[in-house]
Amino acid sequence: MFANVIVEIGAKSIDKYFIYKIPKHLENQISIGMRVSVPFGYQVLEGFVLEILNKCDEEYDIKEIIKLIDDKPILNSEMIKLGKLISDYTLCSKISAYQAMLPKALKASIKTNINKKVIKYLSLNKDKKEIEKYINNCHYEGQINVLKELINDKKIIYNSANSSIKTLIKKELINIKEEEVFRYETNSFIEDKKIILNEEQQKCVDEVSNNINKNIKYLLYGVTGSGKTEVYMNIISNVIKLNKTAIMLVPEISLTPQIVSRFIARFKDNVAILHSGLSDSERYDEYRKIVNGQVKIVVGARSAIFAPFKNLGIIIIDEEHTKSYKQDSNPRYNAIWVAEQRCEYHNCPLLLGSATPSLNSFAKANNKVYKLLTLIKRAGKAVLPKTYIIDMKNEVRKKNFIFSSLLKEKIIEKLENNEQIILLLNRRGYSSMLTCRNCGYVEKCNNCDISLTYHKTSNMLRCHYCGYSKPKVNICPKCGSNEIKDFGLGTEKLVEELAKLYPTSRIIRMDADTTSKKGSHEKITKDFLDHKYDILVGTQMITKGLDFPLVTLVGVINADTGLNIPDFHSAEDTFQLLSQVSGRAGRAGINGEVVIQTYNEKHYSIMYASKHNYIGFYQEEMKIRKTLGYPPYYYMIILKINSKDYELGYKHANKIGDYLRKNISKSSIVLGPTMANMFKINNIYNYQCIIKYRQDNLLYKVLKAIDEHYKKETKIDISIDII
Ligand code: ADP
Ligand code: ZN
Ligand code: ZN
Repeated sequence: MFANVIVEIGAKSIDKYFIYKIPKHLENQISIGMRVSVPFGYQVLEGFVLEILNKCDEEYDIKEIIKLIDDKPILNSEMIKLGKLISDYTLCSKISAYQAMLPKALKASIKTNINKKVIKYLSLNKDKKEIEKYINNCHYEGQINVLKELINDKKIIYNSANSSIKTLIKKELINIKEEEVFRYETNSFIEDKKIILNEEQQKCVDEVSNNINKNIKYLLYGVTGSGKTEVYMNIISNVIKLNKTAIMLVPEISLTPQIVSRFIARFKDNVAILHSGLSDSERYDEYRKIVNGQVKIVVGARSAIFAPFKNLGIIIIDEEHTKSYKQDSNPRYNAIWVAEQRCEYHNCPLLLGSATPSLNSFAKANNKVYKLLTLIKRAGKAVLPKTYIIDMKNEVRKKNFIFSSLLKEKIIEKLENNEQIILLLNRRGYSSMLTCRNCGYVEKCNNCDISLTYHKTSNMLRCHYCGYSKPKVNICPKCGSNEIKDFGLGTEKLVEELAKLYPTSRIIRMDADTTSKKGSHEKITKDFLDHKYDILVGTQMITKGLDFPLVTLVGVINADTGLNIPDFHSAEDTFQLLSQVSGRAGRAGINGEVVIQTYNEKHYSIMYASKHNYIGFYQEEMKIRKTLGYPPYYYMIILKINSKDYELGYKHANKIGDYLRKNISKSSIVLGPTMANMFKINNIYNYQCIIKYRQDNLLYKVLKAIDEHYKKETKIDISIDII
């Protein structure tokens, strides 16, 4: 017998099966989906068995499989099929699709060494009567104590044997057993609230719960605070009553510790947690709980979409508009797309939820591809907050550079009422750049074409793209002047300015810099929830999934940061960000207020967000997308051409542009090549071609050909991004 095996070779994976002979002694043990060690050239590699064949027509001498790594398949038939689909759709190699589905401990790689953790404990080997008889005739206190504890069902961990234990083992009265332990502790810092669903919520729960055996795709559009999480938990509870399993995706667990806590509080040890904040061994443990059937629910970030549940009853994707559901490195899969495939396979519903659905998803709901469910009211007694838009051009004239008069007033008011405040500033660090007043010199990154951000705590200049850093300079390296000034505002400086204005207030900052340590995110969230602080300052990290009942004021310091990015998504992103952060105010019956500071006070994304008018925004933005030919009216693919060599990159980008224009359908549009928004990152020049199409039967073949061709090129790197 023979096996088709795929292995990972080098960075640009070769997507090919290699055939190996199955040694006689392994014929009965091997099955599809197991990992094997195989000889490959002069090396030994690990790979996945994807097919088993009875005969083989190859002429050459076929090498033998060295050994099996697993005693059970780690890829089931659904996963094997799914990997092929992902590889076809995203144009990635099959091996990279399979690797993405597995925790590090189970990837086909000879470098990993992550083991199960077991504890050894003592266990009785005879029935209790016999043991008691022995105790009655025994004169050794040590032995008697051990046996008595075991009779009383006490757990004795075995570390090393003393003489009593040695004797008892020798006499076969006790033995040593092993038990798997799980390293990740799923703790909840909140209590489960018993909640009676309102009519709107109940309707959603009933609709989905009555269709667990149907492959219906739902979009739940529910305003912030409408009780979506409560709806999810009720549906999941119905799913597990049917003895089925559920996947719950959240944007990024470290960003949503509260949701995780709510799930653990409700479902206790029936939940596994999967996210990037866990160590590799913890992830492996959580993964095994799923494989072994010890849990019925997984809550996790993007990659949890691959949780190998067998009897899937639902997949729920919260905050479905979130960008991080699509992986931005190979394999560039979109978790929503993967969820659609899996729900089809399991014939179960998919539920996407958001207060600000992506245009794409809402358009699908309008076209009846998704079935729309809505929650238009906030849950309980809460109402949507009152919002003020402040034109900062006027404020600057009054010398209010950071805080408008209204925001200052409101902050005082809330502090006096003993309520809490959230301030959003989507830029970390102290200031956005350092420039010389004398000659205009700007400190830039050595590797990227980007100015460095000043971080005052560490007195360093940092690149937020490649991580390059260097100490702050006080003298201009170009002209020698000491007139070096910082420009722009970051979260560090905001906190400093706040402390000057409100010296007795307690302020905490949450951004990538204050949350790099494990658990720090959770701690800030919990401390703020416990009202150890009055003001929470943060980047977009604070906009998602947080439910702080005492927050009655949200201030957006600069609503324009996202609008200035040249990307067709920028209005949608701004609308989502403002709506989400506004949604943090007034969630528990005390009326909330939002102050949005901007230089673009007439921009439609800001206007609609301030009115909580999603539908209005949707309609206006759709008109623009239609006029300009952007998604969802067109499909879009960005083909990126990256090179360390400026000239070579330019040459190949043009070659690829021409090739595309010549070979794909005439109805499709090729734009570029152009320089990407971030043209030079980490010493690599990024060019791109944009392809817009509605239907194109030639396109995938052409893209595949380009991809294959450039796998052989070492100096040019191609990536294909399906938007
Ligand atoms: P969303 O996920 O839509 O933002 P949540 O599920 O977090 O909303 O609910 C917002 C708040 O309202 C939470 O504190 C939640 O406990 C509460 N809540 C949800 N449903 C109800 C209800 N039916 N009655 C009272 N309070 C509710
Ligand atoms: Zn200078
Ligand atoms: Zn850089």
